[in-house]
Amino acid sequence: MSMPVCPRCGQGLSAFQVFRTRNRWGRAGPRPRDELWWRCAGCGWLGFQERGSDRLRPMRHLEGDDGDCPFCGGEESTVVSEPWQAEGETRDWSVCLECGTSNQRRVRIR
Ligand SMILES: [Zn+2]
Ligand SMILES: [Zn+2]
Repeated sequence: MSMPVCPRCGQGLSAFQVFRTRNRWGRAGPRPRDELWWRCAGCGWLGFQERGSDRLRPMRHLEGDDGDCPFCGGEESTVVSEPWQAEGETRDWSVCLECGTSNQRRVRIR
């Protein structure tokens, strides 16, 4: 697999892992999530690839209270996908980078 470059500034991206630390059902330790996660040291871009896909999907950090994780209490640890339309609603997908919990959310139109 070739190393992807940042879609925003063109630098090589660095891989990192997001671990699921909750709901381990007695497993020995945190397990990495299935996606491949990337960040850019140059401009701060963050995103992931589904395994087997070349497509980079951008994620962005939520700031302030919106970014605090309701599951583990991490502060500003939540990142969200770009929103999409489904069944008449706008939805996005959030992931906590600290505890690895993902959640599909309905987005309020601002
Ligand atoms: Zn970049
Ligand atoms: Zn969390």
